[in-house]
Amino acid sequence: MSNLYGGFGTGGPGAVRGGPQGQGDIHETVGAYALGILDDAEATAFEAHLATCDWCAQQLDDLAGMEPMLAALADMPGSQGTPAIGESLSAKPSPRLVERLVDEVSERRAQKRRRSFYLVAAAAALIIGGPVAVMAVNGGDDTDTGHTVAAVSPAKAAFQSMTDKVSATDPTTGVSATIAMQAKDWGTSGAIEVKGVKGPLKCSWVAVGKNGERETLASWSVPKWGYGIPDGKTEESKNPLYVSGAAAFTPNQIDHFELMTFDGKKLVEVKA
Ligand SMILES: [Zn+2]
Repeated sequence: MSNLYGGFGTGGPGAVRGGPQGQGDIHETVGAYALGILDDAEATAFEAHLATCDWCAQQLDDLAGMEPMLAALADMPGSQGTPAIGESLSAKPSPRLVERLVDEVSERRAQKRRRSFYLVAAAAALIIGGPVAVMAVNGGDDTDTGHTVAAVSPAKAAFQSMTDKVSATDPTTGVSATIAMQAKDWGTSGAIEVKGVKGPLKCSWVAVGKNGERETLASWSVPKWGYGIPDGKTEESKNPLYVSGAAAFTPNQIDHFELMTFDGKKLVEVKA
């Protein structure tokens, strides 16, 4: 315990907050960066660091998609004082990092207590019981509650809970994407549903601003059997993929989204 939570000098739960970074703990900023809650100067400083730091790049990878869950966690009553949350997340990036993130998010959102029950329940179920337990939170809205024990990922739950959606299909690649967005104090929380994509490939979900800037919301791999393939041989292959992400852009600063392969091919473009 003590070696996990102590011993890193200035890295207490206050280190990321507000003011200028100490030199020693810029690695700690990765969580706040992933959540898009840094101010411009902080984000720029961190990006400069990120370019040279494999550890932070790895953390950022691991954190991709956790934003809605962390946000929900931070709003759970009593989350601050519940050691079980930090412990049960230990398989994720690192208990210490997650604890700090939860603190960070709950502080930044202390005034906003109306998080949907849906997300909170999905997050709690993910942490406590893994995907299978999540079934219970899906109030029978649009998921068939038949014999299949359908795992509802946090990304899918986030996607379903957001009402602002845009979508497009690329006639050449056959890839289609629907993107759900929600404005946040810190930017945009989003989730993407991808269909008709076969791998193996790696791709990134990028928001392109009206100012031309590009922000990656998430990256992932597509296995050879793909996602959202109507005549797929397995359920995995038939089901769409859901991934959540976050951007510092506000929704109205985004011109469009691109789904790009790592080697630069555009799979689909979606007007925001
Ligand atoms: Zn670093």
